[in-house]
Amino acid sequence: MKKNRYRIYSQYLKEKYGEKVYKIPINLPVTCPNRDGVIAKGGCIFCGEEGAGFENLEHTISVTEQLNTNIAYIQKKYKARKFIAYFQNFTNTYLPLEKFKEYILAACKENIVEIAISTRPDCINDVYLDFLREVKEKNNINISIELGLQSVNYHTLKKINRGHTLAELIDAVLRIKNYGFESCVHMILNLPWDNKEDVIEGAKIISALGVEQVKLHSLYILKDTVMGSMYENKEFEIISLEEYINSVIIFLEYLNPNIIVQRLIGRAPKENTIFCNWNTSWWKIKDAIDEKMEKLDSYQGKKFNYLNGKAIKQFINT
Ligand code: SF4
Repeated sequence: MKKNRYRIYSQYLKEKYGEKVYKIPINLPVTCPNRDGVIAKGGCIFCGEEGAGFENLEHTISVTEQLNTNIAYIQKKYKARKFIAYFQNFTNTYLPLEKFKEYILAACKENIVEIAISTRPDCINDVYLDFLREVKEKNNINISIELGLQSVNYHTLKKINRGHTLAELIDAVLRIKNYGFESCVHMILNLPWDNKEDVIEGAKIISALGVEQVKLHSLYILKDTVMGSMYENKEFEIISLEEYINSVIIFLEYLNPNIIVQRLIGRAPKENTIFCNWNTSWWKIKDAIDEKMEKLDSYQGKKFNYLNGKAIKQFINT
């Protein structure tokens, strides 16, 4: 049997919850402070109108209804019994506290074992985390928080108009950790202004911070976005698929072997997409990564030797 060369999310969930667990996306009527002018206007230069949840139900449908509809479907199809309520789209903590509480409490239902909340590093605050701790304790529901970072290079973050730097990510991860929740950091490994050093540094910083999970994406480019116009005007080039595969492998080699890898490659909405995954299906790219890791005898954590005083390890007898 082939050995796993990185820590696979679905297996982790199975170990943690004793059976297969399904993520149910929830779409809230939220926006993002990087789009509405509080931090910046227009958002990240690649961000489209729909945010990440292009396959979700409408945000006009209540949380309860979205959960009931999706759970009923998955329960019937897969005989599933445990679910994660996943607040996916845009910035799900960018809400008045009372509204945030209302939405989260609506997700505390039987069979929900975890609430996963996707947000920005500058939308993590202790008051909101206090409430989530209460939810966890009262309902016996785990909490995990997904943070978009995309690059650890703060010059790149400025170019893509993230509206925050690396410092806010560090602050958010440490706060989340303080509450005993897990964090998952999203990274794009082929941003045009990043190079191999940035990819390696990304894996090192995420490992040093003690982040529990990562989600890797390749960049997709949408029409009617700043990045879309830049792409059409040939203002940057995108690395080849082969280079992307190499970036994923090098990232994994530097990553702490305990970190769970939720995903190696993203997907894009069909409509309005002008570049996505080199016109190759995501699973073919995943297979190519797996095959190349096998061929090179590469594995997650192969180069994870840089923490805990690398230079003085020679003086310590093991
Ligand atoms: S943080 Fe997310 S939702 Fe906000 S502008 Fe950037 S990509 Fe869009």
